Amino acid sequence: MINMTRKRFVAGAKCPKCHAQDSIVLFKENGIETVECVECDYREQQTEAKVSQKAKSEVIGLFKPD
Ligand SMILES: [Zn+2]
Repeated sequence: MINMTRKRFVAGAKCPKCHAQDSIVLFKENGIETVECVECDYREQQTEAKVSQKAKSEVIGLFKPD
């Protein structure tokens, strides 16, 4: 029996390294989302900071009471 430690396959995902289809597993390692290929040694971690969206703070002109 294969011991899959909460790893789950990403449906339709293709490995950018070996181009194997449905070989990408997603799991959390120390709270960091990690993707890994089961066919080769491809591995990538996605930190929250990396995904942080640009602060699009559009300051609307304040209404000045006259
Ligand atoms: Zn691969």
